[in-house]
Amino acid sequence: MNVEISQVILIACGIGLVAICIILFINELRCRRKEKELFDQSHEATDEAARITVCTTTNVSSPHGLKVVASAGPPKDPLPESHDQIRVIERSEKQRKYKCSHSGPKTFKLDVYGSRTKPFEQKDECSDCVLARYRKHVIRCALCGLDIVPGDGVALYSPGPETHPEYATKIGDSVIGCLRWDCCPSGGFFAGNWSEEGFKPRFGGEVTAAESLMFPTAKT
Ligand SMILES: [Zn+2]
Ligand SMILES: [Zn+2]
Repeated sequence: MNVEISQVILIACGIGLVAICIILFINELRCRRKEKELFDQSHEATDEAARITVCTTTNVSSPHGLKVVASAGPPKDPLPESHDQIRVIERSEKQRKYKCSHSGPKTFKLDVYGSRTKPFEQKDECSDCVLARYRKHVIRCALCGLDIVPGDGVALYSPGPETHPEYATKIGDSVIGCLRWDCCPSGGFFAGNWSEEGFKPRFGGEVTAAESLMFPTAKT
């Protein structure tokens, strides 16, 4: 009798051990699958962040001759085609009186050298006055030709085969470019801001961010 009981206990222990092993094995499989999923996700994210793009604008150089040959990040998309006009578009039928003393459409947008603004919905300036202000203060990027408005950060380039003298704004020997992801080859070309008073240098003259790091004495 005692022998039978000890046999039953042994068999029960054996079954218990096997069950524990199966549970541990399933758990291990789950952990491995989870780890793989996490790795795949981070691997995809790393791939996206570290995509290296060979720079197609290798003819563009900074005022002191720095060039970009490769850049990391999402590929660049085509920009809207630029033109040489600033005009009012999408005027509302409804008119209103403005603080500038003129009457004009209640809402309107501008097409600024190829970029479309959000709708203007304010009380101060009629569309004609806004248009005149834009024509006075907005310049075009030397590379893509699109608008640069007061407050925008800007790049400086040496005039070259990819800059357009017919609409570029010159600062000394350099020309101003926009900082659009799809236009500027590198944030290292950042040199200051555009304002209603003109170019406001950030690094003491015709000096870009990259130049201020590489040639700390390059001030003009
Ligand atoms: Zn007005
Ligand atoms: Zn541009």
